[in-house]
Amino acid sequence: MKPRSALAQALPRSGIREVMDLARQMDDVIVLVVGEPSFNTPAHIIDAAAKAAHGGTTKYTPNAGLPGIRSAVAERYTRKFGRPIAPAEVLVTAGAVNALAAIVAGIAEEGDEILIPDPGWPNYVSMIELARTAPVRYPLRPENRYLPQIAEIEERITPRTKALIINNPSNPTGAVFPEESVRSLVELAQKHDLWLISDEVYEDLIFEGKHVPAARFDAERVITVSGVSKSYAMTGWRIGWAITNPELVALCGKIQEALVSCPPAISQAAAEAAVRGPQDAVEEMRAAYQRRRDLVREILEPVGLLPTIPQGAFYAMVDLRGAGIPSRDLSRLLLEEERVAAAPGSTFGDVAEGMVRISLATADDDLTEGCRRIVRFAERHGALPLAGTAALQA
Ligand code: PMP
Repeated sequence: MKPRSALAQALPRSGIREVMDLARQMDDVIVLVVGEPSFNTPAHIIDAAAKAAHGGTTKYTPNAGLPGIRSAVAERYTRKFGRPIAPAEVLVTAGAVNALAAIVAGIAEEGDEILIPDPGWPNYVSMIELARTAPVRYPLRPENRYLPQIAEIEERITPRTKALIINNPSNPTGAVFPEESVRSLVELAQKHDLWLISDEVYEDLIFEGKHVPAARFDAERVITVSGVSKSYAMTGWRIGWAITNPELVALCGKIQEALVSCPPAISQAAAEAAVRGPQDAVEEMRAAYQRRRDLVREILEPVGLLPTIPQGAFYAMVDLRGAGIPSRDLSRLLLEEERVAAAPGSTFGDVAEGMVRISLATADDDLTEGCRRIVRFAERHGALPLAGTAALQA
């Protein structure tokens, strides 16, 4: 039997997977492609999960999650949004990816368009296409510090546009949107009667400035998506959530019935412990990413390879456009010549063509050595705008 779905076959293959497949065949590779925290889940969360499992939290749960985690999440965002959020406004899901996919399926109809960032997380494209909806990219340019420009988004809005997805802090750019940006994005959604899906999974990983939740400016049309993966180093537990009106929560709960039935029960207990428990580990991890961001900055900024300094999340876009080599070839050459695995920028959209994304979720020494090798590579390929600095001699 051959698979027949043209839709599934047409889904793009991640450029990150291609790099990893090549890297696996080589020795001594410094891997800077990983998109997940480099830490273990804090012990008190694992203990809570074990206790819940022994206590019988091992069965199906309601589609939208157990009351405990829903109310923990509601309390968390009551504080963040500055207005009361009810548990009925919380849809608990198998990771933020499942929240986004369920929401897209819940709001959009075949032929609708959904605006997504370029560069942006590649999964937006595939989940939108799976919902038989069209992704339309809007640019986030390095010369604008990767911040959204309202006019550039507005000119892409058509009568078919149903929603605008924003990602703050951003994967892959590390941009953290200032309050005026968030506010004007909400106003744009209001003006054109769009849903605003705000992917805030990196909300706790901020180095400079502060994170401004979009839902502070509109209780109706902003759908907030987040989860425990990044804040608590819990990618494998698969818990995320969406916060929106109870009607949409109930509708998406029905979609969940077909997709996953419910999020994993034990993981829901673990996530509740994460959200309600001590938050020291979140701060420790955040500080570690910031320290690594500084290490990367020290090496790459003086030679002009880091035009924009990441202010949050755990990624940095390295600008190798001076080499004039397409991203996919850049990633392959970087691997072959310098044994450094970095994600090709083009995987995130056209704007990042000629760049690579490196992950700060890497041991300090590897990150430092990886960046030095990238500088050497850039020099060899004529991609150093500001050559001859201390970083080169290091
Ligand atoms: N949004 C963005 C921007 C991400 O980078 C990721 C994970 N890489 C997710 C959502 C999904 O996170 P999860 O499903 O693990 O909660």
